[in-house]
Amino acid sequence: MILCALYIALTCTITDFLSTPIKSFSDIVFVLLHWSTITIALFSILTLISLINKYLFSAIYTIFCFLSAILAYFRYTINFSFNTMILDIVFQNDIVVSADMITIPLILWVIIISIIGYFISSYRKNYILNFKSATTYVIAIIALCLSIILFYPNGRFTRPICERIPFNIINVTSKYISQRQEIETERPRQCKYANSVNQDSTIVVVVIGEALRPANMSINGYHRKTTPNIETLGVVSLDSVFSDYVYTNRSVPHLMTRATSANPEIAYTERSFIDVYKAAGIPTTTIANQDAEKPYVYFINEADSVIRSNQTKTVYNFDKWLDADILPHYNNILKENHKQQLIVIHTIGSHWWYNSHYSDEHEIFKPTMRSRIVSNCDSMEIVNSYDNTVIYTDFIISEIIKPLQNKNAIMIYLSDHGEALGENNLWLHASESEIMHHTAAMIWMSKKYIELYPNKYEALLLNKTQKHKTDFLYHTAIDAGNIKSDVLDSTLSLLN
Ligand SMILES: [Zn+2]
Repeated sequence: MILCALYIALTCTITDFLSTPIKSFSDIVFVLLHWSTITIALFSILTLISLINKYLFSAIYTIFCFLSAILAYFRYTINFSFNTMILDIVFQNDIVVSADMITIPLILWVIIISIIGYFISSYRKNYILNFKSATTYVIAIIALCLSIILFYPNGRFTRPICERIPFNIINVTSKYISQRQEIETERPRQCKYANSVNQDSTIVVVVIGEALRPANMSINGYHRKTTPNIETLGVVSLDSVFSDYVYTNRSVPHLMTRATSANPEIAYTERSFIDVYKAAGIPTTTIANQDAEKPYVYFINEADSVIRSNQTKTVYNFDKWLDADILPHYNNILKENHKQQLIVIHTIGSHWWYNSHYSDEHEIFKPTMRSRIVSNCDSMEIVNSYDNTVIYTDFIISEIIKPLQNKNAIMIYLSDHGEALGENNLWLHASESEIMHHTAAMIWMSKKYIELYPNKYEALLLNKTQKHKTDFLYHTAIDAGNIKSDVLDSTLSLLN
């Protein structure tokens, strides 16, 4: 069984670690520990399967080798990580695209790995289990205990194991099935009416940011010049906005819907502001640059058209994953020249691992971090890398605004939560601290928009210095498009 586990771990799982940034000896130890944990998990699961039936084991093991070989091939050749978007392409969209990826080297590699895998499993099959022997029970109990420890729901090891080859085969497939169920479970429309009262064409762009903390933006007084572009473009930054949650999966559904601190469950039962635009007959598009997660996959798919960039990335990729990939899609949509339009963009922003999320030319602050383990990084290196993501976000927002300048348009940016950079010895997000709740928000209006709706601009300037919760987004987004609807609570709109 050790040989069976090592075979997959050495030929396939290892490809998941080849792009991991290594700075020091402890990074190597860390990677080896991760890889060994997956090998032990594989050993324990395979052992349990082999106890059921030797033919069943042989069949499952060979299939595991076959599928792992496919994933390892793409992981090694194009640094592609298996995720639910890939399955979406294969099952929902364009099967021709998937067929194009089947090449001779891939076929040869998969055949070789599967055949050797089959022989290893057959070798294992020749051993007859002896249920009269105490050793069998000891091994079974050890395998069971290891499986419980390693796969304990939401446990310390579960995610790193389940998102790596071969366990991602099962994990991603089950995630995909539950996401499809989530999308297909129709939520009722909340608004009784939604009428656009626009005289002129209006473009509304809503950008959902990632882990952008207002304290590191020069527009809010940060000592480093991190947001020069948006300052020049006249963006109004709201530097007192707080999110109820400190991680994406909770925060995004909350800010997309009518959910409030008093009624947070609304995020999981109601539709988002995108649906109010649809009810008003306005074309809607979402462009997503983060992998789809069950809590917010419903909203991404609410729009009339859904575009995904960087479809082959997961958090375990460490090469470039840039928001610039959104821009060609965005510019194409603007060319469609609808009378009115809503575009919602979900960015990767300042997501960990920071170095992956800004381009080389935006690496202004140096040295940057070299290890992916926070405790192995120098704190100044982390801050440098983080600030480079802020510079990059400033560039992206300016590229989003530029084509809107001569139109009647408004852009609303809201980050899902903040980020800790060493305050009280905390880093990143998803633990409890004030700095993680404090999140970046900004609004930009074109000249034409301000001329048409001076009251909205004045209201925004009055709201700028007030303290707000991310609850404002749903209502502000509807108000921005001049939609009259029973679901709009104008008291929560920043434009009122
Ligand atoms: Zn987030």
